[in-house]
Amino acid sequence: MIDFMSSRVEIDLVKLGNNVEVLLNLYGSKNIGIMGVTKVVCGIPEIAQVLVNKGIRILADSKIGNLRNMRNAKIKAEFILLKTPSLSEVDQVIKYADISINTEISVIKSLSAAAVKNEFPHKIILMVDLGDLREGILPADIDGFIQEVLQLPGITIVGIGANFACLGGVKPTEDKMSTLSLLADHIEEEFNLPLAYISGGNSANYNWFMASEDIGTINNIRIGESIFLGCETLGRTRIPNLFTNVFTFVAEVIESKIKGSLPDGDRGQNAFGISPEFQDRGQIRRVILGVGCQDVLVSGLTPRLDIDILGSSSDHIIIDAKRMELKVGDEVEFDLNYGALLSVMTSPNVDKKYIHSSKLDNQTEQDVFNKL
Ligand SMILES: *Cc1c(COP(=O)(O)O)cnc(C)c1O
Repeated sequence: MIDFMSSRVEIDLVKLGNNVEVLLNLYGSKNIGIMGVTKVVCGIPEIAQVLVNKGIRILADSKIGNLRNMRNAKIKAEFILLKTPSLSEVDQVIKYADISINTEISVIKSLSAAAVKNEFPHKIILMVDLGDLREGILPADIDGFIQEVLQLPGITIVGIGANFACLGGVKPTEDKMSTLSLLADHIEEEFNLPLAYISGGNSANYNWFMASEDIGTINNIRIGESIFLGCETLGRTRIPNLFTNVFTFVAEVIESKIKGSLPDGDRGQNAFGISPEFQDRGQIRRVILGVGCQDVLVSGLTPRLDIDILGSSSDHIIIDAKRMELKVGDEVEFDLNYGALLSVMTSPNVDKKYIHSSKLDNQTEQDVFNKL
Protein backbone atom coordinates (compact mmCIF):
# COMPACT_ATOMS: atom_id res chain seq x y z
CA MET A 1 0.00 0.00 0.00
CA ILE A 2 1.42 3.35 -1.04
CA ASP A 3 1.00 5.99 1.64
CA PHE A 4 1.86 8.98 -0.47
CA MET A 5 0.49 10.08 -3.82
CA SER A 6 1.41 13.29 -5.55
CA SER A 7 -2.01 13.84 -7.07
CA ARG A 8 -5.38 13.76 -5.39
CA VAL A 9 -9.06 14.35 -5.81
CA GLU A 10 -10.65 16.49 -3.10
CA ILE A 11 -14.25 15.66 -2.31
CA ASP A 12 -16.30 18.29 -0.51
CA LEU A 13 -18.89 16.31 1.43
CA VAL A 14 -20.76 19.48 2.50
CA LYS A 15 -21.30 20.59 -1.10
CA LEU A 16 -22.22 17.01 -2.02
CA GLY A 17 -24.84 16.93 0.74
CA ASN A 18 -26.28 20.21 -0.50
CA ASN A 19 -26.68 18.81 -4.02
CA VAL A 20 -28.49 15.72 -2.74
CA GLU A 21 -30.89 17.83 -0.65
CA VAL A 22 -31.70 20.26 -3.44
CA LEU A 23 -32.35 17.44 -5.94
CA LEU A 24 -34.50 15.42 -3.52
CA ASN A 25 -36.64 18.50 -2.88
CA LEU A 26 -36.82 19.41 -6.55
CA TYR A 27 -37.86 16.00 -7.91
CA GLY A 28 -39.89 15.33 -4.76
CA SER A 29 -42.02 18.39 -5.54
CA LYS A 30 -43.65 16.31 -8.31
CA ASN A 31 -43.49 13.04 -6.31
CA ILE A 32 -40.51 11.60 -8.13
CA GLY A 33 -38.15 9.58 -5.96
CA ILE A 34 -34.40 9.41 -6.62
CA MET A 35 -32.14 6.40 -6.85
CA GLY A 36 -28.60 7.60 -6.14
CA VAL A 37 -26.29 6.25 -8.85
CA THR A 38 -22.86 5.65 -7.36
CA LYS A 39 -20.98 4.04 -10.26
CA VAL A 40 -18.94 7.12 -11.18
CA VAL A 41 -17.56 7.21 -7.63
CA CYS A 42 -17.10 3.42 -7.42
CA GLY A 43 -19.64 3.16 -4.61
CA ILE A 44 -17.16 4.64 -2.14
CA PRO A 45 -18.80 4.28 1.31
CA GLU A 46 -17.83 7.82 2.48
CA ILE A 47 -19.84 9.25 -0.42
CA ALA A 48 -22.68 6.72 -0.26
CA GLN A 49 -23.11 7.59 3.42
CA VAL A 50 -23.69 11.28 2.59
CA LEU A 51 -26.37 10.33 0.04
CA VAL A 52 -28.13 8.16 2.62
CA ASN A 53 -27.76 10.74 5.43
CA LYS A 54 -29.48 13.31 3.23
CA GLY A 55 -32.43 11.03 2.53
CA ILE A 56 -31.69 8.80 -0.46
CA ARG A 57 -32.97 5.29 0.30
CA ILE A 58 -31.92 3.42 -2.83
CA LEU A 59 -28.37 3.24 -4.17
CA ALA A 60 -27.74 1.96 -7.68
CA ASP A 61 -24.45 0.85 -9.17
CA SER A 62 -23.37 -0.97 -12.31
CA LYS A 63 -20.73 -3.06 -10.53
CA ILE A 64 -21.61 -5.84 -8.12
CA GLY A 65 -18.26 -5.25 -6.37
CA ASN A 66 -19.28 -1.66 -5.60
CA LEU A 67 -22.59 -2.86 -4.13
CA ARG A 68 -20.70 -5.38 -2.04
CA ASN A 69 -18.35 -2.68 -0.71
CA MET A 70 -21.25 -0.46 0.32
CA ARG A 71 -23.05 -3.37 1.97
CA ASN A 72 -19.90 -4.44 3.81
CA ALA A 73 -19.47 -0.85 5.00
CA LYS A 74 -22.96 -1.15 6.57
CA ILE A 75 -24.51 1.56 4.43
CA LYS A 76 -28.23 1.40 5.18
CA ALA A 77 -29.99 1.43 1.81
CA GLU A 78 -31.65 -0.79 -0.74
CA PHE A 79 -29.15 -1.78 -3.44
CA ILE A 80 -29.84 -1.99 -7.16
CA LEU A 81 -27.59 -3.49 -9.80
CA LEU A 82 -27.94 -0.99 -12.63
CA LYS A 83 -26.83 -3.25 -15.46
CA THR A 84 -28.20 -6.48 -16.88
CA PRO A 85 -26.36 -9.16 -14.89
CA SER A 86 -23.85 -11.42 -16.65
CA LEU A 87 -24.87 -15.07 -16.56
CA SER A 88 -21.64 -15.81 -14.75
CA GLU A 89 -22.45 -13.51 -11.81
CA VAL A 90 -26.05 -14.37 -10.92
CA ASP A 91 -25.13 -15.89 -7.55
CA GLN A 92 -23.34 -12.67 -6.56
CA VAL A 93 -26.29 -10.62 -7.83
CA ILE A 94 -28.73 -12.51 -5.62
CA LYS A 95 -26.37 -12.05 -2.69
CA TYR A 96 -25.50 -8.35 -2.99
CA ALA A 97 -28.34 -6.71 -4.93
CA ASP A 98 -31.92 -6.40 -3.68
CA ILE A 99 -33.03 -5.49 -7.18
CA SER A 100 -31.39 -5.78 -10.61
CA ILE A 101 -32.38 -4.28 -13.93
CA ASN A 102 -32.97 -6.85 -16.65
CA THR A 103 -33.58 -7.26 -20.36
CA GLU A 104 -32.83 -10.93 -21.18
CA ILE A 105 -35.09 -13.86 -20.33
CA SER A 106 -32.15 -16.30 -20.14
CA VAL A 107 -30.57 -14.14 -17.44
CA ILE A 108 -33.81 -13.86 -15.48
CA LYS A 109 -34.24 -17.66 -15.67
CA SER A 110 -30.76 -18.04 -14.26
CA LEU A 111 -31.50 -15.45 -11.52
CA SER A 112 -34.65 -17.40 -10.71
CA ALA A 113 -32.69 -20.65 -10.35
CA ALA A 114 -30.13 -18.90 -8.13
CA ALA A 115 -32.90 -17.31 -6.05
CA VAL A 116 -34.56 -20.68 -5.50
CA LYS A 117 -31.26 -22.45 -4.78
CA ASN A 118 -30.22 -19.83 -2.20
CA GLU A 119 -33.77 -19.40 -0.87
CA PHE A 120 -33.36 -15.70 -1.45
CA PRO A 121 -36.10 -14.02 -3.50
CA HIS A 122 -34.93 -11.37 -5.95
CA LYS A 123 -36.65 -8.31 -7.41
CA ILE A 124 -36.20 -7.02 -10.93
CA ILE A 125 -36.92 -3.89 -12.93
CA LEU A 126 -37.46 -4.46 -16.64
CA MET A 127 -35.80 -1.92 -18.92
CA VAL A 128 -37.57 -1.00 -22.14
CA ASP A 129 -35.81 0.54 -25.12
CA LEU A 130 -37.57 3.69 -26.21
CA GLY A 131 -35.08 4.62 -28.90
CA ASP A 132 -31.67 5.29 -27.33
CA LEU A 133 -30.61 1.78 -28.42
CA ARG A 134 -28.58 0.81 -25.41
CA GLU A 135 -30.28 -1.72 -23.12
CA GLY A 136 -33.94 -2.58 -23.23
CA ILE A 137 -36.78 -4.86 -24.25
CA LEU A 138 -38.61 -3.52 -27.30
CA PRO A 139 -42.12 -2.31 -26.34
CA ALA A 140 -43.66 -4.71 -28.88
CA ASP A 141 -42.12 -7.66 -27.04
CA ILE A 142 -42.93 -6.62 -23.48
CA ASP A 143 -46.20 -8.53 -23.00
CA GLY A 144 -44.77 -11.90 -24.03
CA PHE A 145 -41.66 -11.18 -21.96
CA ILE A 146 -43.62 -10.45 -18.79
CA GLN A 147 -45.77 -13.54 -19.31
CA GLU A 148 -42.62 -15.67 -19.29
CA VAL A 149 -41.15 -13.92 -16.22
CA LEU A 150 -44.36 -14.42 -14.24
CA GLN A 151 -43.84 -18.20 -14.51
CA LEU A 152 -40.44 -18.00 -12.79
CA PRO A 153 -40.23 -18.74 -9.05
CA GLY A 154 -38.20 -16.47 -6.74
CA ILE A 155 -38.46 -13.45 -9.04
CA THR A 156 -40.76 -10.44 -8.65
CA ILE A 157 -41.13 -7.65 -11.19
CA VAL A 158 -41.21 -4.41 -9.19
CA GLY A 159 -40.89 -1.85 -11.94
CA ILE A 160 -40.10 -0.76 -15.45
CA GLY A 161 -37.60 1.79 -16.61
CA ALA A 162 -36.12 3.45 -19.65
CA ASN A 163 -32.77 5.01 -20.29
CA PHE A 164 -31.98 8.00 -22.46
CA ALA A 165 -29.07 10.01 -23.79
CA CYS A 166 -26.59 7.26 -23.02
CA LEU A 167 -25.68 5.79 -26.37
CA GLY A 168 -27.84 7.41 -29.01
CA GLY A 169 -28.13 10.79 -27.25
CA VAL A 170 -31.92 10.42 -27.60
CA LYS A 171 -33.72 13.01 -25.46
CA PRO A 172 -36.32 12.03 -22.87
CA THR A 173 -39.05 14.19 -24.37
CA GLU A 174 -42.66 14.61 -23.20
CA ASP A 175 -43.56 12.14 -25.93
CA LYS A 176 -41.12 9.43 -24.79
CA MET A 177 -42.11 9.88 -21.15
CA SER A 178 -45.80 9.54 -21.90
CA THR A 179 -45.04 6.37 -23.90
CA LEU A 180 -43.36 4.96 -20.77
CA SER A 181 -46.26 6.07 -18.58
CA LEU A 182 -48.83 4.45 -20.84
CA LEU A 183 -46.78 1.27 -21.05
CA ALA A 184 -46.71 1.13 -17.24
CA ASP A 185 -50.51 1.62 -17.10
CA HIS A 186 -50.96 -1.13 -19.64
CA ILE A 187 -48.73 -3.59 -17.73
CA GLU A 188 -50.40 -2.90 -14.39
CA GLU A 189 -53.80 -3.50 -15.91
CA GLU A 190 -53.03 -6.40 -18.24
CA PHE A 191 -51.14 -8.44 -15.64
CA ASN A 192 -52.68 -7.03 -12.47
CA LEU A 193 -49.10 -6.20 -11.53
CA PRO A 194 -48.46 -3.14 -9.34
CA LEU A 195 -45.23 -1.38 -10.36
CA ALA A 196 -43.46 0.29 -7.45
CA TYR A 197 -40.91 1.88 -9.78
CA ILE A 198 -41.70 3.59 -13.04
CA SER A 199 -38.23 4.91 -13.62
CA GLY A 200 -38.09 7.60 -16.25
CA GLY A 201 -34.39 8.09 -16.81
CA ASN A 202 -31.30 9.83 -15.52
CA SER A 203 -29.69 13.26 -15.21
CA ALA A 204 -30.75 13.96 -18.80
CA ASN A 205 -34.40 14.14 -17.66
CA TYR A 206 -34.04 17.52 -15.93
CA ASN A 207 -35.37 19.66 -18.79
CA TRP A 208 -38.33 17.35 -19.30
CA PHE A 209 -39.04 17.44 -15.58
CA MET A 210 -38.92 21.25 -15.38
CA ALA A 211 -41.08 21.79 -18.47
CA SER A 212 -43.59 19.00 -17.95
CA GLU A 213 -46.93 19.86 -16.38
CA ASP A 214 -48.11 16.27 -16.39
CA ILE A 215 -45.42 13.77 -15.49
CA GLY A 216 -47.88 10.88 -15.89
CA THR A 217 -47.13 7.84 -13.77
CA ILE A 218 -43.36 8.37 -13.70
CA ASN A 219 -42.40 8.11 -10.01
CA ASN A 220 -38.66 7.53 -10.07
CA ILE A 221 -35.45 8.74 -11.63
CA ARG A 222 -31.89 7.43 -11.40
CA ILE A 223 -29.45 10.27 -10.78
CA GLY A 224 -25.67 10.26 -10.77
CA GLU A 225 -24.09 13.16 -12.62
CA SER A 226 -26.46 15.88 -11.34
CA ILE A 227 -25.64 14.90 -7.75
CA PHE A 228 -21.88 14.83 -8.28
CA LEU A 229 -21.28 17.50 -10.90
CA GLY A 230 -24.30 19.77 -10.40
CA CYS A 231 -25.54 19.76 -14.00
CA GLU A 232 -28.10 18.20 -16.29
CA THR A 233 -26.60 16.15 -19.08
CA LEU A 234 -28.22 17.15 -22.38
CA GLY A 235 -26.36 20.47 -22.55
CA ARG A 236 -24.33 20.18 -19.32
CA THR A 237 -26.03 23.27 -17.91
CA ARG A 238 -25.70 23.92 -14.20
CA ILE A 239 -28.86 23.24 -12.17
CA PRO A 240 -29.72 26.24 -9.92
CA ASN A 241 -28.46 25.96 -6.33
CA LEU A 242 -26.20 23.00 -7.08
CA PHE A 243 -22.42 23.02 -6.71
CA THR A 244 -20.47 22.10 -9.83
CA ASN A 245 -17.24 21.89 -7.82
CA VAL A 246 -17.87 19.11 -5.32
CA PHE A 247 -14.74 17.47 -6.78
CA THR A 248 -11.36 19.08 -7.37
CA PHE A 249 -8.42 17.36 -9.05
CA VAL A 250 -5.07 18.58 -7.73
CA ALA A 251 -1.69 17.90 -9.38
CA GLU A 252 1.84 19.07 -8.61
CA VAL A 253 4.28 20.94 -10.84
CA ILE A 254 7.50 18.95 -11.48
CA GLU A 255 9.11 21.16 -14.15
CA SER A 256 8.66 24.82 -15.09
CA LYS A 257 10.79 26.36 -17.87
CA ILE A 258 10.59 28.92 -20.63
CA LYS A 259 10.78 26.87 -23.85
CA GLY A 260 9.58 27.06 -27.43
CA SER A 261 6.09 25.93 -28.41
CA LEU A 262 7.09 23.95 -31.52
CA PRO A 263 8.98 20.65 -31.25
CA ASP A 264 12.47 20.86 -32.80
CA GLY A 265 13.61 17.96 -35.04
CA ASP A 266 12.35 15.34 -37.50
CA ARG A 267 9.03 14.06 -36.25
CA GLY A 268 7.27 10.70 -36.22
CA GLN A 269 4.50 9.33 -34.03
CA ASN A 270 4.30 10.14 -30.33
CA ALA A 271 3.86 7.69 -27.41
CA PHE A 272 0.21 7.09 -28.34
CA GLY A 273 0.74 6.43 -32.03
CA ILE A 274 -0.45 9.79 -33.27
CA SER A 275 1.36 12.72 -34.89
CA PRO A 276 0.05 15.73 -32.99
CA GLU A 277 -0.23 19.23 -34.44
CA PHE A 278 1.36 22.11 -32.54
CA GLN A 279 0.43 25.76 -32.56
CA ASP A 280 3.26 28.32 -32.66
CA ARG A 281 2.87 30.36 -29.47
CA GLY A 282 6.48 31.57 -29.49
CA GLN A 283 8.50 31.20 -26.27
CA ILE A 284 6.19 30.15 -23.41
CA ARG A 285 6.35 29.01 -19.81
CA ARG A 286 5.96 25.24 -20.20
CA VAL A 287 4.92 23.62 -16.97
CA ILE A 288 4.85 19.86 -16.42
CA LEU A 289 2.53 18.21 -13.91
CA GLY A 290 3.54 14.83 -12.55
CA VAL A 291 0.37 13.02 -13.61
CA GLY A 292 -0.84 11.77 -16.95
CA CYS A 293 -3.21 9.52 -18.85
CA GLN A 294 -2.43 6.69 -16.45
CA ASP A 295 -4.06 8.68 -13.65
CA VAL A 296 -6.77 10.77 -15.25
CA LEU A 297 -8.72 11.30 -18.47
CA VAL A 298 -6.82 14.46 -19.35
CA SER A 299 -9.33 15.63 -21.97
CA GLY A 300 -11.95 15.84 -19.20
CA LEU A 301 -9.98 18.33 -17.07
CA THR A 302 -10.60 22.08 -17.02
CA PRO A 303 -7.97 24.18 -15.22
CA ARG A 304 -9.35 26.68 -12.70
CA LEU A 305 -6.47 29.05 -13.50
CA ASP A 306 -6.16 30.82 -16.85
CA ILE A 307 -3.73 28.27 -18.29
CA ASP A 308 -3.93 25.83 -21.25
CA ILE A 309 -3.34 22.09 -21.38
CA LEU A 310 -1.07 21.52 -24.39
CA GLY A 311 -0.81 17.74 -24.25
CA SER A 312 -0.15 14.71 -22.11
CA SER A 313 1.55 11.34 -21.99
CA SER A 314 1.23 8.43 -19.57
CA ASP A 315 2.69 10.30 -16.60
CA HIS A 316 2.93 13.96 -17.62
CA ILE A 317 0.54 16.80 -18.42
CA ILE A 318 2.14 19.72 -20.27
CA ILE A 319 0.74 23.17 -19.72
CA ASP A 320 1.17 26.65 -21.17
CA ALA A 321 1.17 28.65 -17.93
CA LYS A 322 0.51 31.90 -19.85
CA ARG A 323 0.74 34.71 -17.28
CA MET A 324 0.80 32.41 -14.25
CA GLU A 325 4.06 32.14 -12.32
CA LEU A 326 3.89 28.41 -11.66
CA LYS A 327 7.01 26.90 -10.11
CA VAL A 328 8.14 23.42 -9.10
CA GLY A 329 6.12 22.19 -6.11
CA ASP A 330 3.09 24.40 -6.80
CA GLU A 331 -0.30 22.71 -6.96
CA VAL A 332 -2.72 23.22 -9.85
CA GLU A 333 -6.48 22.66 -9.50
CA PHE A 334 -8.91 21.35 -12.11
CA ASP A 335 -12.64 20.78 -12.55
CA LEU A 336 -13.55 17.31 -13.81
CA ASN A 337 -16.16 16.12 -16.25
CA TYR A 338 -17.89 12.75 -15.86
CA GLY A 339 -15.17 10.80 -17.66
CA ALA A 340 -12.39 12.47 -15.71
CA LEU A 341 -14.22 11.86 -12.43
CA LEU A 342 -14.64 8.18 -13.29
CA SER A 343 -10.95 7.91 -14.15
CA VAL A 344 -9.65 9.44 -10.91
CA MET A 345 -12.07 7.50 -8.73
CA THR A 346 -10.96 4.22 -10.33
CA SER A 347 -7.25 5.10 -10.27
CA PRO A 348 -5.23 3.62 -7.41
CA ASN A 349 -2.63 6.37 -8.00
CA VAL A 350 -4.92 9.26 -7.11
CA ASP A 351 -5.46 9.96 -3.42
CA LYS A 352 -9.03 10.61 -2.21
CA LYS A 353 -9.23 13.45 0.29
CA TYR A 354 -12.49 14.32 2.03
CA ILE A 355 -13.15 17.88 3.09
CA HIS A 356 -16.04 19.15 5.15
CA SER A 357 -15.59 22.87 5.38
CA SER A 358 -16.44 24.65 2.17
CA LYS A 359 -14.82 27.81 0.97
CA LEU A 360 -17.28 30.03 -0.82
CA ASP A 361 -15.97 30.70 -4.29
CA ASN A 362 -18.62 32.90 -5.78
CA GLN A 363 -21.92 34.66 -5.18
CA THR A 364 -24.09 31.74 -6.28
CA GLU A 365 -22.45 29.55 -3.72
CA GLN A 366 -22.97 32.22 -1.10
CA ASP A 367 -26.68 32.11 -2.00
CA VAL A 368 -26.82 28.39 -1.51
CA PHE A 369 -25.20 28.62 1.90
CA ASN A 370 -27.45 31.44 3.05
CA LYS A 371 -30.41 29.18 2.43
CA LEU A 372 -29.01 26.18 4.29
C1 LIG B 1 -25.38 5.53 -15.25
C2 LIG B 1 -26.82 5.29 -15.29
C3 LIG B 1 -27.72 6.22 -14.76
C4 LIG B 1 -27.27 7.53 -14.15
O1 LIG B 1 -26.92 8.42 -15.15
P1 LIG B 1 -26.47 9.93 -14.79
O2 LIG B 1 -26.36 10.59 -16.11
O3 LIG B 1 -25.18 9.84 -14.08
O4 LIG B 1 -27.54 10.52 -13.96
C5 LIG B 1 -29.06 5.91 -14.79
N1 LIG B 1 -29.51 4.76 -15.33
C6 LIG B 1 -28.69 3.84 -15.87
C7 LIG B 1 -29.26 2.59 -16.44
C8 LIG B 1 -27.31 4.08 -15.88
O5 LIG B 1 -26.50 3.16 -16.42
